[in-house]
Amino acid sequence: MPGNDYRPLEPGRQRIPELKEDTPMEMEYCGQKVDLDTCPFCGSAPLIHGYRNRMRQWYRIRCSNENEVCRMIPETSASRTLEQAAADWNMRPEVSK
Ligand SMILES: [Zn+2]
Repeated sequence: MPGNDYRPLEPGRQRIPELKEDTPMEMEYCGQKVDLDTCPFCGSAPLIHGYRNRMRQWYRIRCSNENEVCRMIPETSASRTLEQAAADWNMRPEVSK
């Protein structure tokens, strides 16, 4: 890989945010309230992005990248409803090791 300066964090320095699946944060967007989990990669609070396109309202939810630590910055696909975007964002597939 060109410019490969990636090094895994030493175990002692690794900062793994606690899973907060049981304590999602309630966020409000234009009067609509949804419960959102933190970013699964960095633990940042999510951001709700609503916008109009093709005469319709759309919603996306993405990692806010607080403190600029996230190297993934996941974002949902566009949804017609905030509820659907929240469901996509909160999806946490089981990971087998
Ligand atoms: Zn993140």
